[in-house]
Amino acid sequence: MLGVDGVRAGRHVLTVHPDGHWRLDTTAASSADVRLVDHVAAPALYDAHIHLHPDVALSEYLAYGVGRVRDLGSRIEDAPVRRDCADPVPELVRGGPMLDRPGPPRLLIAATWDDPSQLPALLDGSVERGASWVKLYEGFPVELFATTVQQAHARGLRVAIHPAPGDYRAALDAGVDELEHLACLVPPGPRGSHALLARWAERRARDDWPAGLGGDAVCPTLLVQHSLVTEARRGWTFEGHDPRVADFWRASAIARRPWTEGELTAGERAVDALRKAVGELDAAGVRWVVGSDTPNPGLRPGASMWQEMNLLVDAGLDRLRVYRAGSVAAGLTAAGTHPIVVLPRAALEAGPFPVAPPAATLLAGCLFRPRPETPSEEPEESRRVRDL
Ligand SMILES: [Zn+2]
Repeated sequence: MLGVDGVRAGRHVLTVHPDGHWRLDTTAASSADVRLVDHVAAPALYDAHIHLHPDVALSEYLAYGVGRVRDLGSRIEDAPVRRDCADPVPELVRGGPMLDRPGPPRLLIAATWDDPSQLPALLDGSVERGASWVKLYEGFPVELFATTVQQAHARGLRVAIHPAPGDYRAALDAGVDELEHLACLVPPGPRGSHALLARWAERRARDDWPAGLGGDAVCPTLLVQHSLVTEARRGWTFEGHDPRVADFWRASAIARRPWTEGELTAGERAVDALRKAVGELDAAGVRWVVGSDTPNPGLRPGASMWQEMNLLVDAGLDRLRVYRAGSVAAGLTAAGTHPIVVLPRAALEAGPFPVAPPAATLLAGCLFRPRPETPSEEPEESRRVRDL
């Protein structure tokens, strides 16, 4: 099992109570329902940046060991809830509404507001909906950062920001809790994906931006640019993806037309520069939060969380640190309630993380098995082991 101090070898017995509590020990007698040899139990993954979408099945997250997701803005008002083990729905941390510029919203998922006096009511509304986060989007006026963060904090909400170029420092000074998208942490300049990629492509070794980050939380979402550049190079074929989802991506502004050779080259250089910046920010003490930003073009629920973690490992971060940053807890202890994933032992040992469904995910007293070797034989009505 993965404990807070590292991987502990040996036989472990996980006893699960119907109310969702679990106990983990090495001595308990076992009348095992499920026995997994050569596997390791670890805290389940937490994808901290997703957007709920009607075409994305939440069960896909669970199938890949993601036991908790954070929705940072979506149009889904009534998120699916897990009533019992028949519902493969991960724990959901709600954010939103997304606050962008005043006036008619440019993004369908952003709230409508015209005057700053309307913001407190929007924040009250998100508390009523059960949100614990709000996200400020790049059009949100920089002069309102401090008061909005104060108003959000006073309501128990935390604030994430997708900053416009040059705004990330002001956001941190205003007390924002987390910065989204490393690609957006650039000096003042033009907006838009191509402008950001061009900026990163031109970043030289002596450039110190994004500067001044210390113990701040950054959710880098590297896979978004990585996947855009790869798919642009392939001509937006989105091979192997659900055709409906691929059509939705091809309708997005960034994928509506082929990229020029110059844009492709800039994109490839930008991806490289982003990877280098991860190491610099890590040395500066940045606290990494891991999220995939699914369903951005080319991303898959669940699988992309592992891909994002692999990009961070590839950028030079220690793999167990990346695992911990991307999961619901630093390690397993003797008892708890949070979701647990059971992985092939080799998954935590060396090389990239396998981008594959794990053996099982335990969530709220239910064991979800993506690829069971032997199907569950419990009677349907008492099922606590569920094959996905
Ligand atoms: Zn996002």
